[in-house]
Amino acid sequence: MALNLVMLGPPGAGKGTQAVRVEQERGIPQISTGDILREAVQAGTDLGRQAQAVMERGELVSDALMVAIVRERLARDDTRDGFILDGFPRTVAQAVALDEILAGRDPLIVVELGVPDQALVERLSRRRVCRECGATYGAGAGAVPAACTGCGAPLVARKDDREEVVQERLRVYREQTEPLVAFYQDRSTFRRVDGNQPADAVRIAIGGAIDAAQAAVHVQPTPAG
Ligand code: AMP
Repeated sequence: MALNLVMLGPPGAGKGTQAVRVEQERGIPQISTGDILREAVQAGTDLGRQAQAVMERGELVSDALMVAIVRERLARDDTRDGFILDGFPRTVAQAVALDEILAGRDPLIVVELGVPDQALVERLSRRRVCRECGATYGAGAGAVPAACTGCGAPLVARKDDREEVVQERLRVYREQTEPLVAFYQDRSTFRRVDGNQPADAVRIAIGGAIDAAQAAVHVQPTPAG
């Protein structure tokens, strides 16, 4: 069975960090819509020009644009054994579109990472990213090195990790993305994990949640349609 996984949770919950670990452990691609947009901004493409100002304000890029990006990405062969979506869906409209994109494929498994607001603000103010490869440091318990341990490039703060933008991103999360918990929570493949623990404990909890959700698929026939 393919592992079609959505990591849900507020900014700073550790979705990206944990998605990379699942990618390494299970050999399926991590798809971060935030990374896709940041790469487009850096490359100066049309998409990047459309997204940049919206991202710097902490608001959401349009559903139509995001759904088109994800539809194209999930059509690629490397997602046949599964994928990890990080940062998508972020609205109910995106979640409805995702169900439609995945019709006929194995059921979606949704893991929500819960972290209290105060911890999120602290994590985001500490977070630094590699200017070249995008690797993230310091958002979890770990210390921030002087430079990227992967490629040696300098580390910088994300523009949208400034305090006032963080507050806006949290507000947008509560208003537009948190309703997704209600959208998904009655599914047998929905699991909530405590994200407010050391990264390794979160990783283990996510592994258990994925296994339990996959087992739930085997005992419950998927509804027709
Ligand atoms: P992230 O790296 O997931 O925190 O995303 C950074 C920013 O990219 C967000 O604050 C949004 O402006 C934009 N973004 C990423 N994913 C989405 C999405 N699924 N829908 C709308 N905007 C998005």
